[in-house]
Amino acid sequence: MNYVVFDLEWNQPSDGKTSRERDLLFEIIEIGAVKLDSEGNKIAEFSETIKPQVYNKLNFHIQKMLGIRMSDLKHSPTFPIVAKRFLKWCGDDVIFCTWGSQDLTELQRNISYYDMKPMSDGPIMFYNLQKIYADHIGGEAQAYNLESAVDNLGITKDIPFHRAYADAYYTAKIMAMMNKDCFYKGRSFDLYHLPLSEKEEIYDVIDSESLFVSKGYTDRSEITGNRKLMAMTCAKCKKRSLRPKVRWFSSNSKLYYGAAVCMVHGPIKCRLKLKHSDQGLVYIEKTMTYGTYDDIEEIKSRKKRLKEKTAKIAAEKKMAEYKES
Ligand SMILES: [Zn+2]
Repeated sequence: MNYVVFDLEWNQPSDGKTSRERDLLFEIIEIGAVKLDSEGNKIAEFSETIKPQVYNKLNFHIQKMLGIRMSDLKHSPTFPIVAKRFLKWCGDDVIFCTWGSQDLTELQRNISYYDMKPMSDGPIMFYNLQKIYADHIGGEAQAYNLESAVDNLGITKDIPFHRAYADAYYTAKIMAMMNKDCFYKGRSFDLYHLPLSEKEEIYDVIDSESLFVSKGYTDRSEITGNRKLMAMTCAKCKKRSLRPKVRWFSSNSKLYYGAAVCMVHGPIKCRLKLKHSDQGLVYIEKTMTYGTYDDIEEIKSRKKRLKEKTAKIAAEKKMAEYKES
């Protein structure tokens, strides 16, 4: 098994929405990667630029950041050629590693745009080094950019940032400095392709947290009406559903909170996100984390505040209607 640490650069339109933009918002113009063996030794490099096919202008900010002009790309091969070469170079037995969670998704979006053979027909497990670094240092992943992590770890800055190869190179350097146990704990799933069947649904338990990702459904009522999908469970008790201490509630019908208590393993904080896939399906991501009874009280009072706020808004609306009539 090898690791492929990769980074993409992409272009996007500078002006308003076009129909093309809806098909492919981020057009990949460069792929850079470093391949490491299972011990973390660098064994190969990949770096190729791509001739754009969707947008004929480079976004001003991207041009400035990358230091590339459109004319620099005009002799490069097109995306299908470079992507095919890249995937062949990666090999089969590989774990992808990226800084942030977007690259695997955008790579697959571009692959799908060109009707190429998909990289996978289901979710892809990968290591998000931004998240692993954030776990290592404490804090939210989004708070750290690549260069600040490089500075913080005292890594020598021997090549300029913001080109695909350079960013993959630095991500690999950061990876080498992380504890290997953190990788496994920090593993993520790219959900560009959802689990195809119930059998393939993700149920991933790491320490005190469990993640469940459902397959895709055509309508959200298929999810909200499904007791098994909406169940609050204890990871240590193997999926057995628990009676909720705080029933699911939401202020926006997308992100739900709740809580349950397992008689053996204690209080559990529950969070459920309803999401839409590129293919137009609805699915859920449900995380359950062991917590304290104080956590449960906090969730309970949050639900109460939301209920009061909703009631107040409804009352005000009614009053306004009454005044009008
Ligand atoms: Zn339990």
